[in-house]
Amino acid sequence: MRGKKGSKRVAIMGFNLESNKWSPVVGRVDFHEYLHLVGDEIVTDSDSPNPRALANISGFMHTMDKLMDWTPVPIVLSCGGAAGPADHAFFEEFLAESRQRLEAAMPVDGVYFSEHGAATTTKMFDPDGEFFEMVRKIVGPKVPMVSTLDLHANISERMVETTDILISYLTNPHVDMLERGIEAANAMRELFDGVKTEKAFIRLPLAPPNVTQRTDVGPYADAIKYGQSKVGGQIMNVSILGGFHQGDTPKNGMAFIVTSRGDLKAARALCRDIAERTWKDRQRFVPKLTSLEDCVKLAMDRTRDPTLKPVLIADCADNPGGGGRGNTTWLLDAFHKAGAKGVILGPFFDAPLAAEAHVKGKGAKFKARFNRDETNEYSKKFEADVTVVNLSDGVFIGREGGVGGGRTIELGPTAVLDVNGIQVVVVSQRKQGLDSNHFEAFGVDVAKARTTIVKSRGHFRAGFKHLFKDDQIYEGDLPGLCTPNWANYRFENLPRPIFPLDKDATWQAPNW
Ligand SMILES: [Zn+2]
Repeated sequence: MRGKKGSKRVAIMGFNLESNKWSPVVGRVDFHEYLHLVGDEIVTDSDSPNPRALANISGFMHTMDKLMDWTPVPIVLSCGGAAGPADHAFFEEFLAESRQRLEAAMPVDGVYFSEHGAATTTKMFDPDGEFFEMVRKIVGPKVPMVSTLDLHANISERMVETTDILISYLTNPHVDMLERGIEAANAMRELFDGVKTEKAFIRLPLAPPNVTQRTDVGPYADAIKYGQSKVGGQIMNVSILGGFHQGDTPKNGMAFIVTSRGDLKAARALCRDIAERTWKDRQRFVPKLTSLEDCVKLAMDRTRDPTLKPVLIADCADNPGGGGRGNTTWLLDAFHKAGAKGVILGPFFDAPLAAEAHVKGKGAKFKARFNRDETNEYSKKFEADVTVVNLSDGVFIGREGGVGGGRTIELGPTAVLDVNGIQVVVVSQRKQGLDSNHFEAFGVDVAKARTTIVKSRGHFRAGFKHLFKDDQIYEGDLPGLCTPNWANYRFENLPRPIFPLDKDATWQAPNW
């Protein structure tokens, strides 16, 4: 029930950006193109059958509907996806807009944030903490503040201190956004009923590359599973955040947050326990990647031998979901030179090329100049004769079971180009390949391909698992803005030493 007189008024707001220090800065134009909703637009979107905003907001709102009489007070929701740091001027504009709308809507009884947690700006390492602190000052110390977070969030002390509970995703690929929104609503209800939270927070000198942050198998999965086995009773929530280390901030490092129902001792004991176990397990966070040469061999073996099982190569280093440009050409160039066939590649971000293909029309042949306008050092130029196989407006619904399942996905004008046996899905919006619909919506049959290249680090796993088993998936060790190979970066702000970058990193559990 919404909007009844005297019902609890809950502000809904959020800033969502995962900042890769080496990716181009993003500002107002980028956020407004990606998703910028104000006031009632937030409610309208989340109540629609295929919302554009993350599923945690609809999960939160629809659960609140079931739990109590309440009034949503939608403020501002701004999302920039995964990109570079936010232009600080835009972040200040976002803060001012949020402040103005929240102050005008006061009083509120609670605040729900749909926050990513790994933003930086051109002037600031902790805009998420800055935002939470600003809201806390406006609403006062007693109003419950509940935030969901991406599990790649980089946690500051300030983020923990200014909120009542931080609830991070438990899955990577993030297929539990809806559930975490539901959990946030239940937490809000408990806080309204008088529960006071006590929290413990530990940050380890551990920066696991994203490819070793899987939650189905591996050391991170084990830590999360162990933490979840302890939830219940006095333990309200266990959030373990793998972090996003291409952010290169002093608050990087795997983070453990245990939130209790008023029991600080229990929260601390469990937090220390999980952190100690994970630290002992740290060698398992060293990634195993596949070289370019071996990727070519995988594709050529499949070009020649039809009895071999198809493979999927994740171009992790160029993942738009980690700030990559989605248009590096190492694999395309090498496969083209080698004569690989039955290859599909997508989504490849090149708006001018997609536009040119739309002008030329379906069936046209022309010399395609990939990355003609790109300035990023990794987005090398590539030229080849191509045929336009298909054209589309790039709008489709994400495949159920994938990270974008049931949501409207927009890739902008899209063209499928055949590059001598390699079908490239060229898109106009820089987004990662979340599921097989990123090919199939454009008539490219993934089941028939011998080698599939996806511009994604790991989120593709949920949306391609009906086609590829783990032993058919390879993670490329290629150049790019978000390579999981830490040796390729010049980090300046990470707390050092940090494992696995520094093999000799040490850690002492806090003496609480
Ligand atoms: Zn994430």
